[in-house]
Amino acid sequence: MKYKIIPIMKKSDILKEYRNNPVGLLLEYHNFNRPFGSYSEAQILIGMCMDNRKHLHIPDNFAFIIRSGGANLRYSEFKVSYAISVGKVRHIALIAHNHCAMVNLTARKKEFIDGLVKRAGWSKESAEEHFMNLAPMHEIGNEIDFIMSETNRLRKKYPKIQVAPLYYRVEDNRLSCLR
Ligand SMILES: [Zn+2]
Repeated sequence: MKYKIIPIMKKSDILKEYRNNPVGLLLEYHNFNRPFGSYSEAQILIGMCMDNRKHLHIPDNFAFIIRSGGANLRYSEFKVSYAISVGKVRHIALIAHNHCAMVNLTARKKEFIDGLVKRAGWSKESAEEHFMNLAPMHEIGNEIDFIMSETNRLRKKYPKIQVAPLYYRVEDNRLSCLR
């Protein structure tokens, strides 16, 4: 693989560039149960998948969180800009996770269409069109490659903001760093 997953088992595993900043704090709160600080303003913007298997252990008011399939922020630009400009955050953590259901959407095409027909009352034609129009925008291909490309895109777009690519394993609910 092009990218490396760096497990964060102890404080010294946290990459130098994240130590003593909100990204490092996120890792410490979530992985090490660091005692919660008290916050009146958000310190970080977190982008993560809508997947129900994930839950972050972080203090109140610590973070803005945008959840979307595959942690895809391409369609949340205004919210990202808002969190930076008005919300004053200077760090973004993008969290990929394993077994993401936004990978290989084509494999779920039939289930998607049948499900909309059966559960939502759609016609088969509308459901098919819906899938064909929107699936390509939401397909992420591979979790890690996608989060790294999103990281690069956001770094270019917001050059003064630190963008940290992280990885969440649903088996043990731990965060790792990606490099
Ligand atoms: Zn996912």
